Amino acid sequence: MAPKTVTVPEYQETDQVTLDPKTTALVIVDMQNDFVKEGGRLVVPAAAATVPAIARLLKRAREHQVTVAYTQDSHLPGDPEFPIWGEHCLVGTWGWEIVEELKPEPGDFIFPKRRYDGFYGTNMEHDLRVKGVQNLIVTGTVANICVLHTAGSAALRWFHIIVPKDGVSALNDFDMESALRQIHFLYRGIITTCDGIQFA
Ligand code: ZN
Repeated sequence: MAPKTVTVPEYQETDQVTLDPKTTALVIVDMQNDFVKEGGRLVVPAAAATVPAIARLLKRAREHQVTVAYTQDSHLPGDPEFPIWGEHCLVGTWGWEIVEELKPEPGDFIFPKRRYDGFYGTNMEHDLRVKGVQNLIVTGTVANICVLHTAGSAALRWFHIIVPKDGVSALNDFDMESALRQIHFLYRGIITTCDGIQFA
């Protein structure tokens, strides 16, 4: 098949976004050893480089009492995802654990999930609504898989979504750009950077 060249349609990037900490949640998607760390089962090479930016945002979010929620890919032996991706994020293993640098603290939400969408089969919608959350900052990996499905699922529920591009990672540029374009164009998400997000 002849190689195809495509041009990514324009999408808007926003330098600075100010969010009300009371109605905002920071969602960290699948930043687990299997995806992020050397020796993981399904490493996204670009994911490790996003850890410092996410960690800075997480620190500021905590300072402003922003709701912090993690999704944690969680599979049981024989999961039907394994023929597609190989075995990964087996519950109880090192690879399943969230990376040390972004470790959850007491009071954070952790939503174990079986599929790409952080809302599917979890209490995420209920728990965020009870907290009065309206804005979701979505970070983590993989940009066009669990980040996109979670951001899309949030947008379908009329949460406002904000995606800092230096806080998400993909396996290649096409996947990254198509995910960001989709988030902006279809889900009307704000594309910004981790340090561009302010709480006030
Ligand atoms: Zn999985």
